[in-house]
Amino acid sequence: MSIKVSLVGRPNVGKSTLFNRLVGKRLALVDDTPGVTRDRREGEAKLGDLTFIAIDTPGLEEAPEAALEGRMRRQTDRAVEEAVVCLFIIDARSGVTPLDQTFASILRASGKPVILLANKAEGAAADAGLYDAYGLGLGEPIAISAEHGEGMGDLYNAIEPFLSEMSEEDGEEDIAWDDPLKPLRVAIVGRPNAGKSTLVNKIIGDDRLLTGPEAGITRDSISVEWTWRGRDRDWPVKFFDTAGMRKKARVQSKLEKLSVADSLRAIKFAEVVVLLLDSESPFEKQDLQIADLALREGRALVIAVNKWDLVEDKDTRIKSLREMAGRLLPQAPGAPIIPLSAMTGAGLNRLMPAVTTVYVDWNARVKTSDLNDWLHEAVSRHAPPAVSGQRIKIRYIAQTKTRPPTFVAQCTRAEDLPAAYKRYLINGIRQAFDINAVPIRLILKKPDNPYAKDKSRR
Ligand code: GDP
Ligand code: GDP
Repeated sequence: MSIKVSLVGRPNVGKSTLFNRLVGKRLALVDDTPGVTRDRREGEAKLGDLTFIAIDTPGLEEAPEAALEGRMRRQTDRAVEEAVVCLFIIDARSGVTPLDQTFASILRASGKPVILLANKAEGAAADAGLYDAYGLGLGEPIAISAEHGEGMGDLYNAIEPFLSEMSEEDGEEDIAWDDPLKPLRVAIVGRPNAGKSTLVNKIIGDDRLLTGPEAGITRDSISVEWTWRGRDRDWPVKFFDTAGMRKKARVQSKLEKLSVADSLRAIKFAEVVVLLLDSESPFEKQDLQIADLALREGRALVIAVNKWDLVEDKDTRIKSLREMAGRLLPQAPGAPIIPLSAMTGAGLNRLMPAVTTVYVDWNARVKTSDLNDWLHEAVSRHAPPAVSGQRIKIRYIAQTKTRPPTFVAQCTRAEDLPAAYKRYLINGIRQAFDINAVPIRLILKKPDNPYAKDKSRR
């Protein structure tokens, strides 16, 4: 599938530099059909786990001055038309120029979503231009340095929703988890001092050097690869850790503030999120914020409770942790809770089995016929309410997506269906199909036309 993202901007703002960073050494699919696309480059871009086709329009500086604007305009129009989202790049060092304004109005008129990038933002010389950029009316600029690879995490966060929206529309996606070569991406998140770095070091072995940052991703996200020898198979795993590993370079007060945003970044990269709590102070506000972010992003969650070596009455404590999890995180009723000690290694052998179990849940696929049998029974056991005299009808349900499992049901007056009934349905799906630990999404849609109803997959 080729989702296109266009790089737009006047010459010299750094489009090619960004293009090269995104496409890297992967063979650029340079399209050199004579006369048509000679001065445009397309290439398979990678940013974290996102892949898309980047379109650049280089080489225009070399054109004669008079010809410049018309050709630039045509190139831009075409690149914009093909893209799902445009990256509009300005040079933060020179501020907003009249030509930038021209490009901005072309983009605004196109109606395409635009991500505004203020490039060359390394160092303080860029601050004024960054401020200027707000005035373009294209939303908040993202400061990047294409040359130095800064701001790539923010760029990832900005692009990701457009690409995942596309794949939702596409419905079926590839099942990635049975690809034995593809590492399972796990983020270890939690408050500062929860023990994240100790944990990762213990898992991979203290003697292994932490690699990172990955080229082309971000300096802020550190990852390390490792293989877990599970019972049935080997699992390549890629851990993402956040501020924990870098905290020595940081000021303590800043750390507190940054850790939620840092966690979000790691969460975006991850498939499974391990929330590491400190057994001395579990489920604090920041822990819950991070868990909520992970679940809202649709990630599978494992709760690990660290420093278990310090806990005296372990039986009582685990009971109270379970109670707290149920009460404070009702969105993920079955998320496993794993007490462990990153320092001594006690309990560590239970972590990876939990991670792979929730991962399998996250990839769960339910047959349409089984779902509809279940729906029929659920609705007859407990019918949806009537609204102003008319009973709401739910007729048909199908799973449209995995990772996390997402279901679409056809429902008359969907907007009137009480939240409690929706919860009843979601919990029913959990129980009937044994999908416990991960977020489940249920989308209620007005019935399509009757002819579409017989399709078994939508
Ligand atoms: P394009 O014409 O928009 O494709 O721009 P280029 O990618 O060719 O870049 C124009 C100039 O800006 C080159 O000299 C780059 O080295 C420089 N440049 C690109 N990105 C950055 C950056 O992040 N910081 C700085 N300081 N210079 C950059
Ligand atoms: P991070 O900020 O989450 O990466 O936390 P660190 O890994 O740097 O750990 C913070 C502190 O907790 C350090 O002093 C660790 O030695 C300590 N610590 C980590 N894990 C354990 C554990 O299982 N038990 C005990 N008692 N202390 C631990």
